Amino acid sequence: MTAELRIDLDAFADNLAAIRNRVAPAAHMLVVKDDAYGHGLEAIVTRAWAEDVRWFGAFDVRTGSAVRAFLGAEARIFVWIVATAEEARAAVDADLDIGVGDAALLEDVAAASGRGRVHLKIDTGLHRNGVRPEEWPGFVARAAELERDGALEVVGVWSHIAEASDAEDDAARTLFDAAVRQAQDAGLRPVLRHLAASAAGFARPEFRYDLVRIGAFAYGIRPAGGPGEAELGIRPVSTLAAHVARVDGEDVTIDVGGLDGLPSTLAGRLEVGTIQGSRAVRVIGLSESTVAGWSTAQVGDEVLVLGAGAPASVTDAAERIGTIGEEIALRFSPGMPRVYRGG
Ligand SMILES: *Cc1c(COP(=O)(O)O)cnc(C)c1O
Repeated sequence: MTAELRIDLDAFADNLAAIRNRVAPAAHMLVVKDDAYGHGLEAIVTRAWAEDVRWFGAFDVRTGSAVRAFLGAEARIFVWIVATAEEARAAVDADLDIGVGDAALLEDVAAASGRGRVHLKIDTGLHRNGVRPEEWPGFVARAAELERDGALEVVGVWSHIAEASDAEDDAARTLFDAAVRQAQDAGLRPVLRHLAASAAGFARPEFRYDLVRIGAFAYGIRPAGGPGEAELGIRPVSTLAAHVARVDGEDVTIDVGGLDGLPSTLAGRLEVGTIQGSRAVRVIGLSESTVAGWSTAQVGDEVLVLGAGAPASVTDAAERIGTIGEEIALRFSPGMPRVYRGG
């Protein structure tokens, strides 16, 4: 036996419904970067499509093209990491919506054959990528020129915010609103404005605009140090499940460890779920871990290590080692089997 990641697609669908209700009338763009936060891209986008999600945030062109292949022509797929002219051509060919945060990429999209759909990115303070406010007027003027020439179509303006403090987010939103006005003044009609991810999208209606790019909450991952799942109306979607490999006196060895993605720093800070209740994790090795035993323990018994049904969610565990739930979810080894239920 090996450890496995169980993914409850019905719980995922419930989260999607909670998100839809929360952000309406804005639409939900489901963010699926990093193999859908480790949940498996194909199963996730297929179920989301069946649940009427129509926008997908795919990060790079490779992922975007994969989503296109899974879902067909109708899906709207947004990519924002486009590094070369060749990737820009591939993005236009796959009919992806392209996030454009620099002047060179704008020219690359315009040069591709076909009329690329672009969302112009203003840097509102995160300095990850995006056009600086002082360069924005020239940038939108050039985009308007290329649009008049038929080389591309500007459908949106967007940015990304830290969601760490309301004051910083408010300052970013002021810059964002000014950038949208400047784009309109340049003759553009950016009907898709998007700024927020999970946290601001849930907590702050004025950040929702037309689209909200949400990943974490869709997978039931609550923010570290923030509101709980019940308050948010979401629930964890996945469970890391392992089995008893050996019973060694007082201790039980289970078949999951660091190579599967379990951080070794969780030893002494995590309890797992057994048939007789929670048991402390004492040692986390490479491919096995040791937990405090229970009287009926037998080889093959199931142990729930993290997530739905386990004593700790990924965010509970993350908080104990000073990180965030996504960080733990993304460590789960791609080689570990994903087992789907529901849908
Ligand atoms: C990852 C990401 C998101 C989603 O963030 P969550 O907090 O997981 O909802 C949204 N927008 C961008 C640009 C991202 O990179």
